[in-house]
Amino acid sequence: MAGKFIQGASTQETEPVQPMETTAIDVSPPPLKTLDELSVDASDCRLCGLASTRKKVVFGTGNPHADLVFIGDAPERDEDIQGEPFVGRAGQLFDRMLAAIDLDRRNVYIMNTIKCHPPNNRDPKVDEVQSCSLWFEQQLNLLQPKILCLLGRVAAQTVLETDAPLGSLRGRWHDYHGIPVWVTYHPAYLLRSPQQKKKSWLDLTELSLRLRNLVYSEGS
Ligand code: URA
Repeated sequence: MAGKFIQGASTQETEPVQPMETTAIDVSPPPLKTLDELSVDASDCRLCGLASTRKKVVFGTGNPHADLVFIGDAPERDEDIQGEPFVGRAGQLFDRMLAAIDLDRRNVYIMNTIKCHPPNNRDPKVDEVQSCSLWFEQQLNLLQPKILCLLGRVAAQTVLETDAPLGSLRGRWHDYHGIPVWVTYHPAYLLRSPQQKKKSWLDLTELSLRLRNLVYSEGS
């Protein structure tokens, strides 16, 4: 069989050449971690300076199979202490916003653009967002959401990589790697500016409609 000879070797030497022993190299990609494994890995992250000031890494919470994922900007003090997103005053309003569209924390998944509390609630820095994207991207990859909803200017500008003001990002659908993205007010902003709650309600109604259409079209 031709395959057993080295091609181009002398025709006088017809001894079959034994194949060299080779070590098999596994080129298959490493198996994906589970969300729980990723969360354990992230829990002692030291990729940026926030590791030295945070109390707890706030990974994310909710239904890992949810169609809808909400993304805020960064954990605040209460979240830093409890290790869970949106548990402070803004979180209580967020729960009421969910209830207004017949949802609760068990139906959705909630996370932030970065996992650690920036001192004095300052906006996340570029290098912090960049370091944290290691967790952020793997987390979304595992969650495979059908819709993303970004809460507030910082989350919207960070995820959509834009400087556009929140007002120009609301009211239209965006795209994040093929996932439809909706932008609305951050609940903390609504606590400070309750007059915007009406517009927030309109945003939530559109979001809920899209979610229901999705569930309906998948069920039919
Ligand atoms: N604000 C956020 O953006 N995220 C939280 O988890 C809490 C407050």
